[in-house]
Amino acid sequence: MPKTPWSATSQNLGQDFHNWSGGLRFRPSRLEVPEDEETVAALVRAAARQGRSIRPVGSAHSSSEIYVTDDILVSMADICGLREHDPQHHRAMVGAGSQLTELSKELQAAGMTLSNFGDVATQTVGGAIGTGTHGSGRDFPNLSMMLLGGR
Ligand SMILES: Cc1cc2nc3c(=O)[nH]c(=O)nc-3n(C[C@H](O)[C@H](O)[C@H](O)COP(=O)(O)OP(=O)(O)OC[C@H]3O[C@@H](n4cnc5c(N)ncnc54)[C@H](O)[C@@H]3O)c2cc1C
Repeated sequence: MPKTPWSATSQNLGQDFHNWSGGLRFRPSRLEVPEDEETVAALVRAAARQGRSIRPVGSAHSSSEIYVTDDILVSMADICGLREHDPQHHRAMVGAGSQLTELSKELQAAGMTLSNFGDVATQTVGGAIGTGTHGSGRDFPNLSMMLLGGR
């Protein structure tokens, strides 16, 4: 999956992290880009043992400092993609780091779609759900209303 230039990736390790607009800049002590759920769980357990803090980040489209940290930043960029889908019951299991644009293409190929988007579709599923990102239209609920469950 292509990553946005402002996403935290292994390529920009050791550099200042900046959000999409450049308005937020900071340098985490460590950047992790886990590729699977087990690695995320191991990171959280290790940080808890060591009394360290972890901040997840999606596409860094939030303008407030909610992912700013001088400790461990965890990019969810590689926890992505359509894992399972059931068009008949309008259900899909996806990685929380999936960007909505890319996810839409995968869903479309599977005969499905998301019912709504925000102004842009660069957000990740986890970021959009975590912040109550809303789409357009008076009668559509926000994106987190699509969530049936999560891990
Ligand atoms: C140009 C632009 C247009 C926008 N349009 C809209 C709009 O139309 N409607 C609207 O409601 N909002 C809009 N927003 C706001 C945007 O949708 C939210 O800021 C959203 O959170 C961005 O998602 P993200 O993946 O970038 O999350 P981030 O900004 O990276 O993270 C947001 C929060 O979620 C947490 N998080 C991220 N991923 C995970 C995860 N996998 N697990 C747990 N926590 C996680 C982060 O720690 C942080 O606290 C817009 C923003 C921009 C820059």
